[in-house]
Amino acid sequence: MELEEHAYDVVVIGAGGAGLRAAIAAHEAGARTAVVCKSLLGKAHTVMAEGGIAAAMGNLYPEDNWRVHFRDTMRGGKMLNHWRMAQLHAQEAPDRVRELEDWGALFDRTDAGLISQRDFGGHRYARLAHVGDRTGLELIRTLQQRTVALGIDVFMECTVTRLLTDDVGIVGAFGYWRESGRFVAWQAPSVVLATGGIGKAYKVTSNSWEYTGDGHSLALQAGASLVNMEFVQFHPTGMVWPPSVRGLLVTESVRGDGGILKNSAGNRFMFDYIPDFFRKETAETEEEADRWYTDKKNNRRPPELLPRDEVARAINSEVKAGRGTDHGGVWLDIASRRSPEYIRKRLPSMYHQFKELADVDITKEAMEIGPTCHYVMGGVEVEPDSQAAKVTGLFAAGEVAGGMHGSNRLGGNSLSDLLVFGRRAGVAAAENARNRAGRVRLADDALTSAARAALAPFEREGGENPYTVQHDLQQTMHDLVGIIRTEAEMKGALERIAELKERVANLSVDGHRQYNPGWHLALDLPHMLLVSECIARAALERQESRGGHTRDDFPTADPEWGKTNLICSRGPGGDVGVRRQPLPQMPSDLAEIFEETA
Ligand code: FAD
Repeated sequence: MELEEHAYDVVVIGAGGAGLRAAIAAHEAGARTAVVCKSLLGKAHTVMAEGGIAAAMGNLYPEDNWRVHFRDTMRGGKMLNHWRMAQLHAQEAPDRVRELEDWGALFDRTDAGLISQRDFGGHRYARLAHVGDRTGLELIRTLQQRTVALGIDVFMECTVTRLLTDDVGIVGAFGYWRESGRFVAWQAPSVVLATGGIGKAYKVTSNSWEYTGDGHSLALQAGASLVNMEFVQFHPTGMVWPPSVRGLLVTESVRGDGGILKNSAGNRFMFDYIPDFFRKETAETEEEADRWYTDKKNNRRPPELLPRDEVARAINSEVKAGRGTDHGGVWLDIASRRSPEYIRKRLPSMYHQFKELADVDITKEAMEIGPTCHYVMGGVEVEPDSQAAKVTGLFAAGEVAGGMHGSNRLGGNSLSDLLVFGRRAGVAAAENARNRAGRVRLADDALTSAARAALAPFEREGGENPYTVQHDLQQTMHDLVGIIRTEAEMKGALERIAELKERVANLSVDGHRQYNPGWHLALDLPHMLLVSECIARAALERQESRGGHTRDDFPTADPEWGKTNLICSRGPGGDVGVRRQPLPQMPSDLAEIFEETA
């Protein structure tokens, strides 16, 4: 077998914010480090992030601090977040933002010359450091430049298909070059997964082609566990028209900067959907909500800025009740509330996105929007301080890791998560590599088996086309494991997923190994199916509604479930099992924060 082999101390899979930050940290800790990514460097999902990075820097509101950010994050996640991750995140995010600035990132500034911060749902104070609505681009540009300047090796357009382990833990990874189809293996005692999310398992999503759940599935197959997989975030505002751009994100900054939601009758309906949990801090009238934009101290927040799960459910209910637009969405209006100059300055990408893709001028007309699958809160179960998974030598950071966001992520908390935990994972991976130096080896039979599995779709003839299977999976997840769920639907989804697994085992691809997208999809599909199964199984098990998981048959949050995580792992035969695990106990000094601000 023709195989390219490399040896490193740390291999980082993924070149988004988490992967690059991990690679920089590992390199600076003295580890020989490589980054592997499916697409070109700089094209990761992070580049699409629009609104900003949440960090309690207190630039606009000196009363903001890590304790308030910690509280907001936990409340946004309906208290299911791992308290230690939420604490580290809130404490370290400001330093990570300042460090980015030191490395050359150019943030928008306040009149006093400080990094500007904007409002987002669920954050008590204006907290998102931003660069217009192109924050992810600046973040990636800065990290990428530093990665290249440090001389870290990057394997671009290279997909990892398997993690390699021995009796102790990780020994490396196996993959293929997308362009040539040739195989490549990396020997390494530490692997950091930073592969992002799972959105492509759903039909309507803001996510790009790369989000096929590879890291979640690779971790599970290597013996690690996943936590909170039932929690999938449906962002309330994706484009709904024209069909070719359905699901594309409309940033929350539109609402943070004054945009409001209206139904087809022109009613500002969010006032009808304020849950008791957030009533104290949410405005009761339109007048109070509007005053909040200029006087945040004496007024409460508009209900449009409730956490995403609340807003997405409200839109879903309005459409179901027949008060939606012709294309099944509602209206998001900033045109009647802000000047064209303000809109073009604060939301340049949104202005162009609607002008070019929908022929809508958002400075003059409302946007037609609806929920879109955006983010997965569930991910690899990790130790909070080091991001270590349950397999020695395996680490996970960014969207692929679980625990940090509980049942619902607040906007802006992902970019900060990538930086805080990317750095921590890189440091810990370098340390593990030092401890296991000289003790890992790639076994020939493991490499042969990985190559054989990758080539299997070429060996079969007359099988089904991978695109048809992907379409059917996306439809299944959309119809049966979407925003509102029932037991019968999830059982139906699991039956369909079992059938799809059989179809995947029999599908075949034509042509050769050089740049063959059908083959690539055939290799991504088992990951998507495994992750979808975990979501459906955990969603069936959790008999309550909380955050990104809403059960029509169990419509309220249950205090007992509020103390329980669901853990997915694979048994010896490869079956996915789900078990309950008590939430880690929050120390009393942190628990007091909720009493202080109640
Ligand atoms: P990514 O940036 O997606 O990187 C994943 C990497 O893994 C890629 O390099 C990919 O090529 C690689 N990869 C995947 N599988 C493999 C494999 N098998 N082999 C090799 N490489 C692989 N969050 C915020 O906090 N603020 C925002 O304003 C914001 N706006 C957003 C706007 C949009 C449109 C979207 C979609 C998301 C937004 N988010 C935002 C969420 C945030 O952008 C993501 O959660 C975050 O960027 C994920 O970063 P990551 O490093 O975990 O993964």
